[in-house]
Amino acid sequence: MSARILVLHTGGTIGMQPSSAGLAPSPGFEALIRERLAAALPQLPAFDLIELDPLIDSADLCPTHWTRIAQLLRAHYDAYSGFVLTHGTDTLGYTAAALSFMLRGLDKPVVVTGSQIPLFAARNDAEENLIGALQLAAMPELREVCVCFRGRVLRGNRSVKVDATALAAFDSPNAPWLGSIGIDIELDRAALLPGVTPAFSVPTFDPAAVAVLRLFPGIQAGLVKAVLGQPGLRGVLLQSYGVGNPPAANHALMEALEAALARGTVIVNLTQCSRGGVAGGTYATGAALQRIGVIPGADLTLEAAFAKLHLLLAERRTPAEIRTLMPQAWCGELTPRD
Ligand code: ASP
Repeated sequence: MSARILVLHTGGTIGMQPSSAGLAPSPGFEALIRERLAAALPQLPAFDLIELDPLIDSADLCPTHWTRIAQLLRAHYDAYSGFVLTHGTDTLGYTAAALSFMLRGLDKPVVVTGSQIPLFAARNDAEENLIGALQLAAMPELREVCVCFRGRVLRGNRSVKVDATALAAFDSPNAPWLGSIGIDIELDRAALLPGVTPAFSVPTFDPAAVAVLRLFPGIQAGLVKAVLGQPGLRGVLLQSYGVGNPPAANHALMEALEAALARGTVIVNLTQCSRGGVAGGTYATGAALQRIGVIPGADLTLEAAFAKLHLLLAERRTPAEIRTLMPQAWCGELTPRD
């Protein structure tokens, strides 16, 4: 069977057009692709395109959009050999991670891409990213959610937007690239996920369920309490220092964390560093978090931890189940500790 790809356009710079208020999502992306890539199309896999309605600037994305996107992919899953998701770059890493956890056991490629400059512009990175994504989506050995951006093929749940302006905007600081696009598309076959049996989980998300709390020198317990006391909050990603250290000498702050844990709030410890992860137990300060029941988040990116915790909460898992499931590697998102 020759490859047929479904492109799901969600919005983002790649398909934006100028408006009186600045660049804004605009319908009609398929016609624009067919016009701008006319010369290349005969050499590319055939595709159909559907658009999210309404299209969004990904800065406006909520976890509820993940449900809509995954529903659309699931509804069309059997009819296509691969999928391309065109998405704004701002929250692309969150969506790629969320899809990797929702579409577990994927046995076809789902390639997420976007661009820093819109396709309509004379000089743009959209053409290159789109062409790469379409070609990757036709490679059956890719059986996972990946990101294609500026010649890099990255695991979706390891991807981070690392540059606001450069065209090489994405990287995976804690995992090797899955491949790169030069004269040829080179995939690191040993690094690819095997693909098992699709076992999709597409729950309804509550955007209020998860918050991110970044520590900073002099942070006050009152601020921490205010965050932890938000209505509907059930999970918190604590961005601590280095290998996972909080200001443990701030007893009021530590007590606020302990009180939230006792109320059933799940807290996951992540590093603020852009590379590496939480080792837990190296320093007395970090060990204090583990002692009170904070879950070490290993080398999960903020995006992946956010999506995974949201999914576990949306699936109505208990705090004890989350304690077991969060540190497990489901689809390459973290490096397990032995
Ligand atoms: N604000 C845009 C978005 O994320 C930025 C982009 O696509 O590069 O939708």
